[in-house]
Amino acid sequence: MNETGIVAVFTGVRKPFALREFPVPNPEPGAILVKVQMANVCGSDLHIWRGEYDVYRGQTEPFCLAIGHEMVGRIAALGEEVTHDWAGQPLAVGDRIAYQYFCPCGECRSCRRGTTPRCLQGHRYRCPPTEYPHFNAAYGQYYYLRKPQAVFKVPENVPDVLAGPANCALSQVIDGLKRAGVGQGDSLVIQGAGGLGINAIAVAKERQVSQVIVIDGIASRLELAHDFGADVTIDLREFRTPQSRVRRVHELTDGQGADAVMELVGSPGVVAEGIEMLCNGGVYLEIGNINQRLTCEFNPASIVHGGKTILGLMWYEPESLRRALELLSTRADRYPFHKLLSHQYPLSAIDEAFRQQDSGAVHRAALLPWG
Ligand SMILES: [Zn+2]
Ligand SMILES: [Zn+2]
Repeated sequence: MNETGIVAVFTGVRKPFALREFPVPNPEPGAILVKVQMANVCGSDLHIWRGEYDVYRGQTEPFCLAIGHEMVGRIAALGEEVTHDWAGQPLAVGDRIAYQYFCPCGECRSCRRGTTPRCLQGHRYRCPPTEYPHFNAAYGQYYYLRKPQAVFKVPENVPDVLAGPANCALSQVIDGLKRAGVGQGDSLVIQGAGGLGINAIAVAKERQVSQVIVIDGIASRLELAHDFGADVTIDLREFRTPQSRVRRVHELTDGQGADAVMELVGSPGVVAEGIEMLCNGGVYLEIGNINQRLTCEFNPASIVHGGKTILGLMWYEPESLRRALELLSTRADRYPFHKLLSHQYPLSAIDEAFRQQDSGAVHRAALLPWG
């Protein structure tokens, strides 16, 4: 392929992205060249943009990094040997696909034990866009998909606005709730009604969780939580202290505490109260805190005496992405997934998209690389 494509390059904390052109690679055997249809601004992208999540890998300024990981695309070219997706469906040029944004190595101790989400090598191909194959992240016109990344055809009835976030938020909470064993008869507290939190409500309901309690302080998010089926919401503007929120959860759970609490805020400040909200034997599912430099205090004796578990999770198994697409295909009438992506921008307006989402004016922005 003798053409070029645009990448919106991350150049530093709160700095404008740079639109740069790079040669479009031909896919090697096992790889797929994807034409990105839509890419989203995820909470973790905001953490990077604000300088809270360190992805610089020792680079000094000016940074030249590819970021963005939530996306959906069409197959532009298939490498040799690629004939089917991971569910066994045939693949052809033009097919819409969703895929893991990380790349499990398949060979480390974690991968061999079947715990891909713990692979330490998952970001080994996140090289700067100046290096081949140039298209390593979502904020560009193309994406170079490698062999170990699970890929699935997007069902016809799932539009891009629904499929775009499937490879991150939705798959992540499907994996998390499965690993934590949360299901029928359980009570679940969701800390934070952002992209992860709202998706988690739908997944919890599908798992027959009896009571879903959602905590947030933004009216539009709480409203969306109700639309997705939250049984009760706890408004931070009303319950202003951790103690009052812990008390409220205990009131709502017959004085027992919740069977599981999911941390989807991304702030260490909520961890201690989340653990206190648990019943004896409960599970604290930690997904949101990705910022390596931030810490918090909590009472470890409460884990010991209460027989509680803290379960951390980054990434997910291929099956969780397959189930995410299936859920969007079969249950979109039950949950208003279309309300999750609130605004769309051409890729050239990426700075505005970040600023707007950072300010809270936009729930979740989508970028159109060809729009
Ligand atoms: Zn994400
Ligand atoms: Zn590995």
